[in-house]
Amino acid sequence: MQTVKDWLELEKAHDSGIYTKHEVVIVRGKGARVWDSAGQEYIDCVGGYGVANLGHSNPYVVEAVKRQAETLMILPQTLPNDKRAEFYDTLQGVLPPVLSRYFPCNSGTEANEAALKFAMMATGKRKFVAAVRGFSGRTLGAVALSYEPKYREPFGPYGHSVVFVPYNDVEALKSAVDDSVAAVFLEPVQGEGGVYPATPQFLQAARQITQEKGCLLILDEIQTGMGRTGRVWGFEHFGVVPDLMTAAKALGGGVPIGVCAMTAEVAEKMPKGGHGTTFGGNPLAMAAGVAAIRYLQDTRLWERSAELGREFIEALRSIDSPKVREVRGLGLMVGLELGEPSAPYITRLEQQHHILSLAAGPRVIRFLPPLVIEKSDLEQVVQAVRAVLS
Ligand SMILES: *Cc1c(COP(=O)(O)O)cnc(C)c1O
Repeated sequence: MQTVKDWLELEKAHDSGIYTKHEVVIVRGKGARVWDSAGQEYIDCVGGYGVANLGHSNPYVVEAVKRQAETLMILPQTLPNDKRAEFYDTLQGVLPPVLSRYFPCNSGTEANEAALKFAMMATGKRKFVAAVRGFSGRTLGAVALSYEPKYREPFGPYGHSVVFVPYNDVEALKSAVDDSVAAVFLEPVQGEGGVYPATPQFLQAARQITQEKGCLLILDEIQTGMGRTGRVWGFEHFGVVPDLMTAAKALGGGVPIGVCAMTAEVAEKMPKGGHGTTFGGNPLAMAAGVAAIRYLQDTRLWERSAELGREFIEALRSIDSPKVREVRGLGLMVGLELGEPSAPYITRLEQQHHILSLAAGPRVIRFLPPLVIEKSDLEQVVQAVRAVLS
């Protein structure tokens, strides 16, 4: 029989080496819990980086995937498919009517690549305005908009130019958007950059400025979508509708998926064959996406996210520790900023309290639990955070 150590050693021996690995082998998940190979249970506030909103191995999604796997798994988009059509119709049901055209793909960064290419084609321009601390993904188009120099600088120069403005700075945004800009590209709540919600003024100004200057507004809802922030999409908090929106992470209930949603006006500017994907829109992912959106709608999980998130943030704020700088968030997208590096505390939460959490920048402990998490689990997380900080 394989031991815990064997799996760890095997994985480390062959891994590309880009990840700092936890010293644990996770083998199973259910709801907001995961189990390691020794049978130990963990409360999972990593949630697959915000993929597992509906809970690990959500039974409704599992059933849909099983059924579709036996029916048809792959079909290029040149061949129409019942599940793809159903996915588009279901997605339209949770989006504003103007976002009626969809490019399905397989990940967040691919959705953002598509958004950049559609925006370039629709405007004839190739300059973007993005935000300081923003994160857009790792492929060569999207990474140019990911602010962190470690992600971006070694791989440039890029074929499109990007101007970064401080997030939530309306004046800086105003002066950055001129006639040469194709689109302003923003997250409604910055995730990877440290969990910073947008101010309503900032997103509303972004909408107004882009309209005035004749450029596009792209909102990246990859982490903030599917109920994470207490609404189905983050932009619903702000009364702003973008020209293009990207989603991925939780959209497939755990199955790899991405989508770039856009207005008909934007979509019509891309010529036939101007973009494409082999796996994108495959019936297996489409069936998972239909099940995930339906489950979200039927259970109104975004309301649970809003309520539990409010209580969780309040409870974390009540922790009386000089180490805590700030607790920020929206719904169950929560960051606790320390006055020192967060990594040792993330390790202690895991090793001493069996709670998995993740970083967001060097000093933030980020919590992205499945939205189905029990209130008592979140109370346990607060107790554990209090304990590791004392
Ligand atoms: C995760 C994330 C991405 C990248 O998605 P991948 O599926 O990892 O390529 C892009 N933007 C935001 C805001 C994200 O959180």
